[in-house]
Formats: sequence, structure tokens, C-alpha cells
Amino acid sequence: MKNQNGYVDSFVKLIQCPTVTNSGHEYFEAFHKVLDEEFPNVKQTCEKIEVGGDVLLYKWRGKSSARPLVLMAHQDVVPAVGGDWKYPPFSATVVDGKVYGRGAMDCKNTLFSTIQAVDELIEQGFVPEQDVYLSYSDNEETSGPGASMARDWFKSNGITPFLVVDEGGAIIKKAFSLMKKDVAAVGILEKGYADVKFIAHGKGGHSSQPPKQTPIARLAAFINYCEHHTVFKPKMSKAAKAMIYGLGDALAFPLKGFCKTIGLTGWWVSKLAPKLNAAYGNSMFATTMVFTMSSGASAPNVIPQDAWVVANLRFAPTDKSEDCFNKLRKLAKKYDLEVEVLQSREASPMIDVNGEGYQMYKKALNEVYPDVAVVPYLMFGGTDCRVLQQISTNAIRCTPCALSFDQLGGMHASNENVDIKSLEECVGFFKKFIQEYK
Ligand SMILES: [Zn+2]
Repeated sequence: MKNQNGYVDSFVKLIQCPTVTNSGHEYFEAFHKVLDEEFPNVKQTCEKIEVGGDVLLYKWRGKSSARPLVLMAHQDVVPAVGGDWKYPPFSATVVDGKVYGRGAMDCKNTLFSTIQAVDELIEQGFVPEQDVYLSYSDNEETSGPGASMARDWFKSNGITPFLVVDEGGAIIKKAFSLMKKDVAAVGILEKGYADVKFIAHGKGGHSSQPPKQTPIARLAAFINYCEHHTVFKPKMSKAAKAMIYGLGDALAFPLKGFCKTIGLTGWWVSKLAPKLNAAYGNSMFATTMVFTMSSGASAPNVIPQDAWVVANLRFAPTDKSEDCFNKLRKLAKKYDLEVEVLQSREASPMIDVNGEGYQMYKKALNEVYPDVAVVPYLMFGGTDCRVLQQISTNAIRCTPCALSFDQLGGMHASNENVDIKSLEECVGFFKKFIQEYK
């Protein structure tokens, strides 16, 4: 059995594989070789199912196949170019009880904790009550087809997972004096997503004789309007309510009472919060839109015939994508812009916090982390979980790996790192959860 040093050795090797999303098969092949070496019991006992690409899907046969459990993660990481890294991003440098490197908390920690837990349990001779699958996609960061390939395999084999567990929330360490407990944020819903292109057509021409209302000027006016007006109204959603109410359990007086009251009746907070903190308030209560790409003429002295910008939208669970697009079409018309929806998906269904899946997870969290407040979490970002959720009875988005606020800032940024102690506890959690899962 691995000791703490063994954990570090294995985890370091995973980080040292630069499995940058879409970087090429050879990087993932090398990663798979490391997994085979580091987790020999999984290699020996679990069935490796080919679903295509570099997706990994392992099946660990249990006593029953009635209520399969799927533990998900992704193998790929975002690139680590630029930024102010203290240590090279794929060196996996160990300093002060932390491992630094790209993927340390998004989400090779999830992959490591789940596969290590299974490997240890096999070594101990444990046989799970239900079939357990490990499903690791290879292109989550680009919303690639990896997770869909796994989903299609389950579908075509007539298997309905009872519970899928993926990355999402974490254990967030106490950060201020009124925060009395660490928070285990359990993702219950992820916001929807769309990329929308706004195109302005014009006559082009030489820049020495410029007319008014050129394509870029119209796009700029449109962007300016969107920046200074509330395009999508903030609203209180069921998920936001559950999250605020739950947060009360982690806070001291007077914040505790405040959250508990708001969680029950505080629709007005959805109106006030965006005014106090636009970024967070809007993300929590509204559909957000931000302009991320643009293009104009190919030379500085040419008025473009066509110019465009792309906006990225995240739909609140209270909004339907088509209603938002209609609003944008109406608005864009005023600036004579064409609207093209490049891709779109609705917010995921919210999981029932009183349902069996959530309650089972909560019970294990309470047992392994008795001093932690378990809080439902409305996720602003996306995960692969939404894909397997389509065929599963329950879906949970949470890797109970303890992170500080500072460490959370390392996601997709420089100096991403994780505590070795947190990794150890997380392996312990997954072992416990698998043992209790029936
Ligand atoms: Zn991730």
C-alpha cells in the first residue's frame, strides 16, 4: 500500500505528463502508461473499455449491476503558456507540503483521488456492492466529444448509472472571521452556455473618405450599450436560494441569520447583489454576457466590409436560451447587426438536494469531514458531468479536496497547486464513499 510519499510520487508523475487539451495522442498515450504503472491493481482487475479517442473508461465489477456508480474526471489540462509561474508548470515541484503544476486542482487531483481509492480498495480485497466505473475524458477543457463517447457506450449497452460524480465544487477553507466552518461546495447545477457572433456589414472603402456608421462603429455602440445596461434581468433561482441558505451553516452571527432568511424569502437580494458586486452578483443571479473575440479589416487603412464580435453567454437557470437570443436579436437590429448563434446549451437540470444521490454524498462528506458545512453550489462554469447526467439518475459535481481561496485562484492561471494533505484526505473520502455505496 502506498504511504504519503507514494501518493506524492504518483501524483507528481501525473502532473509531469503535459496532457494539454488537443495536444496530440502521444501525450495521452504516455499518460496512460504512467497510470498503468502507478495503479497496477486497477490495470489488473478493472476492465478497460475502448470507447474511442484517448478516453479512459474502466469498469470495476461489483456484486450488483443495478445501480452503477460513475466517478468522472478529465485527463486534459489547459495550456500553461505565459503567466508568472514560480516553478515550471509541468515540473510538479513539491514545496511546503504542496504540489505545484498545471492540472494540480483542475483536475488531476480528482483523477488521482478516484483511481488511487479504487486501486487501494482492490488491494485490500474489497468488492463493491455495485459496479463502479472510472470515466476520464480527454478533451473536457475544449468541450470536446470525450464525455459523449463514454455516454454513448453506456447508452448502447443499456446501462443507466444511478449516480455520476464529477469535478465541480471543492472544500473551501475558512477565509474570514465570520466564516466558522470550511465549506464543501457540492455542485447541483451548472449554468447554460452559448457563443454568439454579431456581424456588421458595410460597404468598405478607403479610410481617407470615411462615412458614418461603419461596421466597427456600430459594433462598438452595441457593445457599449450592453456594457452599461442590464440586458438580462437578475432573478432569484431555486439553486441560488439553496446555496445561500446552505451557506448560513458555515457562517457566524449575523451573516448566518441573514443567509437563512434570504434563502427562504430574499428575492430582493438578486436585485441588490449585482449592484454591490457586478461580477459575482450577475454570475449568481443573471445570464451573463461578455465579448471575447473580434475582427475587422485586414489593413489599417481599409474600412472593413464586414466586422464581427463574439460574445460568450452563461444562462441563468431561470432563463431559456431562445428568450435570451430573441432579446439580443431585437437589440442588435437597432445597430443593424446580424446575429449568429455558434453554439448553445441550456443550464443543466438541478439535482434534488433531498434526493438519494445528494444525501448519500452528504453523509460521506459529514463522516470524513465532520467540521465542514455541506452546501449546495450553483456552478457558473461547465463540466463534462452535464453529458453523463443525461443518462443518469443523479449527478454530483464535487471533488472534496480542500483548497484555500488563494489556491482557487490558480484554476486556469499560474501557480496552480494543491496540498498533499488535501489529496490524502480526498483519497480517504472516495474510499469511504465507494465502501458505503449500495
Ligand atoms: Zn476541470
